[in-house]
Amino acid sequence: MAAGHLPPLRIAFLSEHASPAALLGGQDAGGQNVYVDEVSRALGRMGHAVDIFTRRDAPDLPETLDWAPGVRIVHVSAGPPRFLPKDDLWPLMPAFRDEILRFAVREGARYDLIHGNFWMSGWVAGELRRALGVPVVQIFHATGITKRRHQGAADTSPPERIWVETDIVRQVDRLIAQCPAEQAELVDDYGADPARVVVIPSAVDTAQFFPMDRAEARRRIGLDTDGPVVVYVGRMLPRKDVRNVVRAVALLARWTGLPVRLLAVGGEKEEPDPEATPEIGVLQRLAADLGIADRVIFTGKRQPGELTAYYGAGDVAVTTPWYEPFGLTPLEAMACGRPVIGSAVGGIAFTVRHGETGFLVPPRDPEALARRLAEVLADPALRDRMGRAARARVERAFTWQTVAERTQALYGAVLAERARPAVAPSPAAPDLTARATMVGEEVVT
Ligand code: UDP
Repeated sequence: MAAGHLPPLRIAFLSEHASPAALLGGQDAGGQNVYVDEVSRALGRMGHAVDIFTRRDAPDLPETLDWAPGVRIVHVSAGPPRFLPKDDLWPLMPAFRDEILRFAVREGARYDLIHGNFWMSGWVAGELRRALGVPVVQIFHATGITKRRHQGAADTSPPERIWVETDIVRQVDRLIAQCPAEQAELVDDYGADPARVVVIPSAVDTAQFFPMDRAEARRRIGLDTDGPVVVYVGRMLPRKDVRNVVRAVALLARWTGLPVRLLAVGGEKEEPDPEATPEIGVLQRLAADLGIADRVIFTGKRQPGELTAYYGAGDVAVTTPWYEPFGLTPLEAMACGRPVIGSAVGGIAFTVRHGETGFLVPPRDPEALARRLAEVLADPALRDRMGRAARARVERAFTWQTVAERTQALYGAVLAERARPAVAPSPAAPDLTARATMVGEEVVT
């Protein structure tokens, strides 16, 4: 298939910790994995060739894996071939860079553009930009300043993170922000040139996530109730503040006497294992302390293909993190025709239309959440109206095809800018220059 108005490009996607092949819903696997998967597939369908470089985190992975038409995953050996928390990966990034360069040389791969994901791959992308003379488009998915602001001392990111991010912001050709809040952050907190920041919101697969009849959905997942069900889907991390949801459900049960259930989907394992996912243990104890242990159902992690039935089993979906760079799960719930009550933070404040597709509430406020839950659950007509509006909004504004088309247009703009005569050559990094130039000459023949 032709690549629109662009000739077919060879694109390197760098995503050090988030491979599309990784199981989702675990500690370090979430929205970024979905983004890399969906955008690369869509670019492949448009006729481009995408190599996704990700760290080898198991010994038996092949070096390259044909993932989708036009898309390969390249497993890069950097550090031990086993899972490591992403906050431990920073020292491995020079090796990640070197292995990508070696791979490119061996394959004779001449990439037209590098698409960096997350700050560490952003650093590697900057290094390759200098080495190969290739432009870089960067998406952070999450930023260190926001993380530090919200997590304070609990933030386990390497201390260099914000400094490195600031450097990336200065150097890359374009930055993708996933919502206006992130765009403002990049400009105000990181000093990005506003002309270089483009907002491309992420999206949801509207064929995979679709409105399912509630009773049918409950039957499929073996949930035997016709009472109200509140559903949370996502990683079980303190910052997702599922504790806030448990507290709100306890309040709701006390205020209304409704036989409400909370369906909590996510975790490291397919079953709710508090050892593998300590947050599940915390939530179980909290539910017991609040006298609602029998109302909270933890399922553990579920595969993306199974999630439609879980969203569909709910009357309303909730997500009240302290902060959220974008948040795919609200969009997934909306695509499933369910209203979403979410924190008025980050991407959620952009995807959820207050009063139309759900409600926005302040984070860390179980009473506010409980009041909105009571409102939606007491009024099936409101619930259904919001659910329909949610689905319509997703179809209008949040499809991966749209994301890929806008990304392709951005690539086109970057490459057109590059094609114009350069004003001055950019100075090369001192330590990488000799080898990088050599590699660059070998690659760019
Ligand atoms: N997810 C999943 N199985 C689970 C829980 C979550 O596949 O059991 C997926 C979920 O559908 C979503 C992603 O993990 O696509 C989470 O992305 P989001 O942007 O909401 O949050 P993040 O995890 O990136 O912070």
